[in-house]
Amino acid sequence: MSQKQNRRDFIKTAGVLTAAAMILNPNDLFARTPVEQRRKGGSKKMQLDWENFTGQMKYTFTISGCSRTSTPIVITRITWDGYKGYGEAAMPPYLGETQESCNQFLLKARPVLDKFDNPFVLDDILPAIDKVTTNNCAAKASVDIALHDLIGNIFGQPWWKIWGFNPEKTPYTSYTIGYDADDDILNKKIEDAAWAKIIKVKLGIGDAQDKRMIKMIRSKLNTPICIDANQGWKDKYYALDMINWLSERNVVMIEQPMPKAWLDETAWVTERSPLPIIADEACQRLTDIPHLKGVYSGINIKLMKCTGMREAREMISLAQDFRMKLMVGCMTETSVAISAAAQIAPKVTWADLDGNILIANDCFDGMKLVNGKVTLFDKPGLGLTKKPDIINL
Ligand code: MG
Repeated sequence: MSQKQNRRDFIKTAGVLTAAAMILNPNDLFARTPVEQRRKGGSKKMQLDWENFTGQMKYTFTISGCSRTSTPIVITRITWDGYKGYGEAAMPPYLGETQESCNQFLLKARPVLDKFDNPFVLDDILPAIDKVTTNNCAAKASVDIALHDLIGNIFGQPWWKIWGFNPEKTPYTSYTIGYDADDDILNKKIEDAAWAKIIKVKLGIGDAQDKRMIKMIRSKLNTPICIDANQGWKDKYYALDMINWLSERNVVMIEQPMPKAWLDETAWVTERSPLPIIADEACQRLTDIPHLKGVYSGINIKLMKCTGMREAREMISLAQDFRMKLMVGCMTETSVAISAAAQIAPKVTWADLDGNILIANDCFDGMKLVNGKVTLFDKPGLGLTKKPDIINL
């Protein structure tokens, strides 16, 4: 082969490699499209706005003696160069954040965003947002989610694709059957869950009631069950006996069996358990994961706990390095935050993403459950469409 031919082949190969490298880098994706075609001619300053929103629940939601019919939410919007992205903070009362605390946080976040010329440097922007306060995780998530939606909209690509995830690999979402002391009502709830491919049951009420729930479900359905004990079992021997009993009844995993501070006791149970033991309350952020290695079999990632999509993506990588199993969960959220969480669903074994179907006045369309399966679409950003006349933002 001549020297000229060799050089031609090299240039051809180098061209392909350069193109491949550009596809892998989201910033280059933007750069490849002529700027004049991409730019909409809007302000080059990131503008953060928000609106308080009350999610009305379709059913009264009861956990450990406290009932509620609505949930406080803040919807955020970040605009830049004529593009926009939406985010959300969903704040169940037991976690300590409120619309007021979120509004205060967002006022402090505005000048931080002002320091950046564009939204693409998430690696610099989001740590700066995180430093504004020590808590406010849901408020931080509302900024993170809006920035991701904005960037995806500018690229014209969904995040599952930017991250290189396979949308076919999403799991079925679990559907929760709530406790009820009345047999007739509980039977009705069980019949209503017949469509679900996987069921979630909250236990930890008491031995007799816990077993009654499972026996009643099993008399009608043999659907696989995920158990969430919400730290309710206060004795490691009892927890292990209960897990063994459940493992004979087509239960597939146990979430947070004992108090989150009980690391030694939980490690003892996990070592002996026939089922995977998943950390929820014990695992809030990335920095928690190293302490949970060898204690739990896996972690439940929720955007409102971990400050959003960027940290969730990092948690996936770290948990995978530790050979830990993954689950994605949610609060009662609109389709904004649910669609954001759904972007990581291809990487998890279990998804508990039914938050938006529990809300009667969802203000967006986004991720859909198709026959119970988390279904991702090839739409830019988070794939959101705002419904008319529910919010002004
Ligand atoms: Mg849980």
